Amino acid sequence: MKNLALHWKILIGMALGVVFGILATMVSWGPEFVKNWIKPFGTIFISLLKLIAIPLIIASLIKGISDLQDIAKFRKIGGRTIITYIITTLMAIAIGLLLVNMVNPGSNVSAETITKLTDGYSSNAADYIDKASKAKEAGPLQFIEDMVPQNIFEAMANNRNMLQVIFFVIFFGICLLLIKPEQSKPIRDFIGSLNEVIMKMVDLIMLYAPFAVFALIAALIAGTADPDIFVALAYYALTLVAGLIILILLYGIIVKFMTGIGPKTFYNGISPAQLVAFSTSSSAATLPVTMERVEEHLGVDSEVTSFVCPVGATVNMDGTSLYQAVAAVFICQALGHDLSIADQFTIVITATLASIGSAAVPSAGIVMLVMVLESVGLPADKLAVGIAMIFAVDRPLDMCRTVVNVTGDAMVALLVGKSVGAISPPKPKQWDDNYQT
Ligand code: ASP
Repeated sequence: MKNLALHWKILIGMALGVVFGILATMVSWGPEFVKNWIKPFGTIFISLLKLIAIPLIIASLIKGISDLQDIAKFRKIGGRTIITYIITTLMAIAIGLLLVNMVNPGSNVSAETITKLTDGYSSNAADYIDKASKAKEAGPLQFIEDMVPQNIFEAMANNRNMLQVIFFVIFFGICLLLIKPEQSKPIRDFIGSLNEVIMKMVDLIMLYAPFAVFALIAALIAGTADPDIFVALAYYALTLVAGLIILILLYGIIVKFMTGIGPKTFYNGISPAQLVAFSTSSSAATLPVTMERVEEHLGVDSEVTSFVCPVGATVNMDGTSLYQAVAAVFICQALGHDLSIADQFTIVITATLASIGSAAVPSAGIVMLVMVLESVGLPADKLAVGIAMIFAVDRPLDMCRTVVNVTGDAMVALLVGKSVGAISPPKPKQWDDNYQT
């Protein structure tokens, strides 16, 4: 057990969590017991990861920029990152649209099933529609306006303001490059050391991951309502999961083709982050693990990792955009709302924007889905039914799409790293040294 790689330990935790969760549903006091005595250990893990997310972004991004020595390289990294993010998002939506149109999962949902699915979930749907309408009231440049904080301490006080913190830190890092080296040295030394300490914190938190994942999965299973609902939505869920699997496999091929790093090395390197993403449903909470894996286990230099990963966690969500395409078309199919080619093109545009606008937290994707559905003219009454209909299976699918979101960020870090010569070959034999103690 001691020498087992971290991802195996997490997988064992997950499997035990499933068994424990199922057992808990068999006794009347089981779910309550899991909620009170098991779930808190999972929640603590998520809090620990969130706790270090902002300090990690600050330390590693300032270090990354100041290590660059010149601003031209930063511009290059920034430009390539954004372009690659847009291309991968479009690729994800295209796969989703192709699959959902081919499989047509909405065609065999009867009116009776729709009533059964929407029963009990309409208030949740109303919540999401309300959140989406608030988000929609914002003007077209609101996104950019929101990126500039008025007070950096206020921005740092909320993990949802990650882009504001990134904005400040990039500004700070660039100015650090513009002053004389002897003037910037004390800050660079301090930040370098701070970065090491935080990376060590990630290592230590990850020792706890297998137990935390056990708690999170057990709590999820013990709290799940009606397993029949999964059967009714099986075609939709399977179409989506198939799309996500195709996307993840494509990542491996692209990485091999563009960087020469084999799929096994890539997947082994990133797997602990994927498992944490699966258990937490949040790319933001997973960010410290993603950064640590990409940097220390896939060999991407910190100057690239520190920019690509935090920005990716907030704006690059390939899994979420694929989901939005599949879910939007599925709902329209099931509710008999015909979609023209122009509508499908509208989905491409709105799903791209929606994935950029989605927060990296559980269920963010379903809020943005409301906007995608509105953009293709789904009437308000059908919209409420549509959202309520897929709500019951949204959590497990959220877990799967978050895995893809995180994997996509890691892939882009590798591609950008390779293109600017900031990647050193990973050392497979030493991968899990940190965790085998
Ligand atoms: N949970 C996803 C994430 O954090 C976002 C979503 O699709 O809901 O990456």
